Amino acid sequence: MKITVKELSKLCKGKLLTNGLNKEVYTVTIDSRVSAKNGLFVPLKGENHDGHKFIKDAVNNGCNCIFIEDETYVDSSLDCEFILNSDNLAALQELAENYRQILDIDVIAITGSNGKTTTKDLIFSIFSQTVDTVKTQGNYNNEIGLPLMLTRLERSNDVAVLELGMSDFGEIDFLARLCKPTFGVITNIGESHIEYLKSKEGIAKAKGELLHRIKSGGKAILNGDDPYLKNMKDVYSETFLYGFEDHNHLVAYNIEQNNTKVSFSVKGLGKDFSVSMPILGEHNVLNALAAILCALLYGVSEQDIIEGLKGPNMTGMRTEVLTSKSEELKVISDCYNASLTSTNAALKVLSDYRNEGRKVAIVGDMLELGQYTEAAHKEAGQKAAENNVDFFIAVGQYAEFLASGWNAHSNKSKALAFENTDQLLKNIGSHLTKGDLVLVKGSRGLKLEKVVKLIREEF
Ligand code: ATP
Ligand code: MG
Repeated sequence: MKITVKELSKLCKGKLLTNGLNKEVYTVTIDSRVSAKNGLFVPLKGENHDGHKFIKDAVNNGCNCIFIEDETYVDSSLDCEFILNSDNLAALQELAENYRQILDIDVIAITGSNGKTTTKDLIFSIFSQTVDTVKTQGNYNNEIGLPLMLTRLERSNDVAVLELGMSDFGEIDFLARLCKPTFGVITNIGESHIEYLKSKEGIAKAKGELLHRIKSGGKAILNGDDPYLKNMKDVYSETFLYGFEDHNHLVAYNIEQNNTKVSFSVKGLGKDFSVSMPILGEHNVLNALAAILCALLYGVSEQDIIEGLKGPNMTGMRTEVLTSKSEELKVISDCYNASLTSTNAALKVLSDYRNEGRKVAIVGDMLELGQYTEAAHKEAGQKAAENNVDFFIAVGQYAEFLASGWNAHSNKSKALAFENTDQLLKNIGSHLTKGDLVLVKGSRGLKLEKVVKLIREEF
């Protein structure tokens, strides 16, 4: 970021306790273990650790400025500046918000229940064909990750593509206040976090907070096939809808899929052209439509859109088709996270994939569904049965619900159910066979990437 300690203490509204006003800070970290030349170290208090204990390590790793919550942490033997705040996280957020204000940069903020990271990657890939673009790293989308991302923006950047995550009311409003979006994208309204937000209406309201924070003169970009989002089309004056349905401003048609890519045409805003991208699934066509609509509204050319979608650099573990060592088995790895909507999307990819051998679905828990937990897992089992899956393996604390949904609707062999990933790992070998195509889908906590790894190494 390259700002002086003096500017920094102003931006975070903290009290500089030392004299190095003109020292320069280039980067911000909350992790004392990473190398951070001229870094600002922001010690946070977690459940188990207090970051203040690691100030010396941070300085050894290059930090020259430290946020502290108590003057007793000042250590004059260390070659660094100290800034006192009543709350370091709040100071980091204040810094991020004020730093973003001084940058002349367009922010594209993306929220929604599913597809945020994917849409971000696609928007980045298109925009970086023509303007200096940055994107959220990995999944840095919360009250800590987003401010860190904001501090990584540079004055030379034209566009920042940022992911906003949430699990409760007020969170999107807060994150959007920090990043001040020019464009606000909402991908869909699913069931994730329904435990806290009570209903889909609640989820829609929470995501919709984004629309109230778009800068004037900006644009809202919504999935118009989603009934909740379609209903929000009048909340922000400049709203544009995308989807498969004809009423949308941008519509995808002629969708053709083979095992390596999806091709489709888009029509709207006076344009009509075809694109092709090396990622699978109708859900990804929707994600691409969001990206294309942003690009057209920003003035990106058709040619740059086509090029950008040809070879996007995607974040891993999201609908990735991988081959085992012997090339005898294929795995669709979709194990970053799971909700009912995203599990259904992944099952559809498995169903559409052309494979000579069996189609096997390994499906794990979907969390934070509250009172819908049992019904949602049964529905996922049923969806597997309806999507031509040949063999169904359920894993996790709700495996029995998944299995019972499958058993009630499939005429194939009964589902296998494992209580946890370790049990699945011990047993999986004997249940797979040459030629299988295996979908692996489940919530983060199950760490099903271990199963993907095992299948790829053992077969
Ligand atoms: P998180 O909340 O975990 O950050 P995310 O919103 O960033 O998730 P992605 O990481 O892009 O979502 O995608 C996660 C999974 O959700 C994908 O692997 C796929 O199974 C599914 N998915 C992606 N896009 C969509 C979509 N538009 N509609 C439904 N499911 C989707
Ligand atoms: Mg994400």
